[in-house]
Amino acid sequence: MNPELLLRLGSFLAVLVVMGVAETLLPRRPLSSGKARRWFANLSVSFLSAGLARLAAPLVPAALAAYCAANHIGLLNLVPTPPAIAWLVSLAALDLLIYGQHVAFHHYRPLWRVHRMHHADLDIDASTGVRFHPIEIVLSLFLKLAAVFLLGPPPGAVILFEVLLNGCALFNHANLRLPLDADRKLRLFLVTPDMHRVHHSTDMREANRNFGFTVPFWDRLFGTYKDQPDLGHDRMRIGLNIFRDPQYGGLLNMLTIPFR
Ligand SMILES: [Zn+2]
Repeated sequence: MNPELLLRLGSFLAVLVVMGVAETLLPRRPLSSGKARRWFANLSVSFLSAGLARLAAPLVPAALAAYCAANHIGLLNLVPTPPAIAWLVSLAALDLLIYGQHVAFHHYRPLWRVHRMHHADLDIDASTGVRFHPIEIVLSLFLKLAAVFLLGPPPGAVILFEVLLNGCALFNHANLRLPLDADRKLRLFLVTPDMHRVHHSTDMREANRNFGFTVPFWDRLFGTYKDQPDLGHDRMRIGLNIFRDPQYGGLLNMLTIPFR
């Protein structure tokens, strides 16, 4: 197995196990539906999406970044840049891109039909962090490839970004009870589970807030930040009102959500 895939898969499984154990020991909310069925469906769709993305593109973003570096393609490969600056700019640019993509998936109707499979989950826990429709993953992959081609980031920064994004998604979707004081300090520079839970509210005014997956800066900067859900974390409703039937929790029905 190639080292990049090994690193990404290894870190994904490690964070998933840590979050799965942590949220079982310190749950924030009681889950409303069976955990085994949800985890099976959410992880299945995640592996399906990852597999289809591999088939859809001839190479992954880090490999394209290596090709661009070798062939002087992309802004950072053309303008002499100190490595530290190139890494920082690359991480920030890729993260801003994912923030923008997330906003677009909420505001452009056909994209929302695809993204709503992620929001249809009736509970939110670590497994929700990888529950994305294959169409969303493939579109996101092509967007990242285009960004890498234009920017020419260091390949290592691309790998680090993917590992961080994945780890943060597992963390901020976790049904994890953090001390409120720790949450307040942590969310100054990291999206916490309480911050991201607002985004999974059935109230669409709240679902259109807190788009960031890693750092809270973009939401603060672009005015999409919301501190807490209006009903509080215990009483707020998670999911989408039109997909509350348990049948939508099955793998096949999840995959057809964009076309309903
Ligand atoms: Zn969303």
